[in-house]
Amino acid sequence: MTTITHQVSDDLLAGYVSGDLAEAFNLVIASHVSLCDEARARMEALEAIGGTVLEQVPEAQMAPDSFAATLALISGGDIRPRPKPVPQRDCPVLPAPIRDYVGGSLADVKWRPVGMGVKQAILATSPDASARLLYIPAGCEMPDHGHRGLEMTLVLQGAFLDGAERYARGDVDVADEEIDHTPIADVGEDCICIAASAAPLKFHGLVPRLVQPFLKI
Ligand code: ZN
Repeated sequence: MTTITHQVSDDLLAGYVSGDLAEAFNLVIASHVSLCDEARARMEALEAIGGTVLEQVPEAQMAPDSFAATLALISGGDIRPRPKPVPQRDCPVLPAPIRDYVGGSLADVKWRPVGMGVKQAILATSPDASARLLYIPAGCEMPDHGHRGLEMTLVLQGAFLDGAERYARGDVDVADEEIDHTPIADVGEDCICIAASAAPLKFHGLVPRLVQPFLKI
């Protein structure tokens, strides 16, 4: 079992379990959990806690499939799309939850160039947050940017450096309004990741700002 250094927090896992997050973030978390046995164990513990609490709820209000569905039923709220993790023992680059959105494997991704050799493919998720696959050539530096909300980036191939930290396959980098960064793809292998963001990024450079509306990033 590979150890994943940068796992999602219990807070974000709880958001996933309770159906509180936008579809784009659910997809990143389901993919991370597919690649990380420890995160999956933590997620199952949270679901068990939620299940124990729900045992107090009258049977008629229980939804058959999941904790999140039951919560939504009780609150009368909508059930947000929530891709399910699939533990991955083999090694295709894309975990099962992402393959469902791509409609195939890595070879089926419809990449669009965004400049400097970087490519992206926006995945169809609910509009409250965006999810995209990014292909970043080895050694390539991403434009310096800040954030207007939560951003989660899961590495699927290769690695990137963010400040003093190195993120490799299975690792998740979480950023928010407080954080400005310039991730750099590690040398040696082109980096593929999936990034979800709640709002458009705040680019500091002129060129990225000019092209941003066209790239929907
Ligand atoms: Zn960022």
